[in-house]
Amino acid sequence: MSRLVKGVRSFSSAASSLLADTTASTSARQPKSFQVFRDVPQLRQLRRKLLQNERTVGFVPTMGALHEGHISLIREAARENTDIFVSIYVNPTQFGVNEDLSSYPRTWDSDVEKLEKINDELARVQAKAGPGQATGRITAIFAPTSKVMYPTLPPSSEIDGQGSFVTITPLSTKLEGGSRPVFFRGVATVCMKLFNATTPDRVYFGQKDVQQTVIIKRMVRDFHIGTEVRIISTARESDGLALSSRNVYLGDRRRAVGLAIYRALKAAEGSYLAGKTSRADILGAARAITGQVLSEQNALSPSERALFEVDYISLADPETLEELDVVEPTKGGVLSAALKMAPLEETNAGENCGLGDGKVPVRLIDNIILQPRS
Ligand code: AMP
Repeated sequence: MSRLVKGVRSFSSAASSLLADTTASTSARQPKSFQVFRDVPQLRQLRRKLLQNERTVGFVPTMGALHEGHISLIREAARENTDIFVSIYVNPTQFGVNEDLSSYPRTWDSDVEKLEKINDELARVQAKAGPGQATGRITAIFAPTSKVMYPTLPPSSEIDGQGSFVTITPLSTKLEGGSRPVFFRGVATVCMKLFNATTPDRVYFGQKDVQQTVIIKRMVRDFHIGTEVRIISTARESDGLALSSRNVYLGDRRRAVGLAIYRALKAAEGSYLAGKTSRADILGAARAITGQVLSEQNALSPSERALFEVDYISLADPETLEELDVVEPTKGGVLSAALKMAPLEETNAGENCGLGDGKVPVRLIDNIILQPRS
């Protein structure tokens, strides 16, 4: 396989340094088992060739800083397609002007290493596969520059910013959209661009970002995009914390306290599974957990505690994301929550405070689907 980086373009506008592209330079680690594309035409060439050879493409969009959650999407894509395209692009338009674009983890070399490792594993599976078993492998990484992704106007994160955007309302105004008004405009816009560049047979998204899954399904339907949307269950640590690229910033203290989000959602799910259907009962169970954890933390000294704010705890309709007063048991619902873990007030010598030494605020989101009762 080629070791070349395809379609490298220089991006010398004044805005380039602000855009913090994913791959620092072309001297970064180059993979052996797949090609890296930095621009669209060369990727399209490969896509055309695959189509002519009746191969299928499963596409996994990511912002890098890969973990087992991302890898689980790739594994699923390998089961259903001959070729997997993975994009690694930290999309500036989904970060608000005061959000963590500059501190978002960028780990190109270890990402490439992880992708090569999973490709080796997939090759072994392929060697053992029986007839008719699809066992795809990663053939392309798309790691575009921001100049490629936003070829005319610089990408704007302003609410009234200029540019070509995809907006999916009212879905994008709910939940995460409440405190992150440009977030889903950025997500829908970048996914539309990525889908146009890769024209995949199937796209793979994680259940972890439930609102994203609902918005992408709506976008695919409303814009007649010729791809199937697959949703893969949330990969978790053994204690239940959802894997996330941002977890590297937590450190031990905030990680332990942040588990409250999962415990709260599980308590709410438990209430539903025990037969409750009212919002008050279901969300009351979740709020009891976050309230208790927060009061325990408040009772500790600044060098011992980790404080957080509950941004929302929601019980919503699975398709519209409208808040529910009562869960219709034949339809189920979506329980979701967001916690804002504050920076540590005081740290201790030798304490593992995570990347950024406990100073980086961390937003944790998680959700559980309340399955319809038969
Ligand atoms: P990101 O790089 O965070 O934009 O995520 C890329 C894709 O990976 C999205 O579809 C996410 O929903 C998915 N993803 C992130 N974390 C997890 C997880 N813990 N389990 C499953 N999928 C995940």
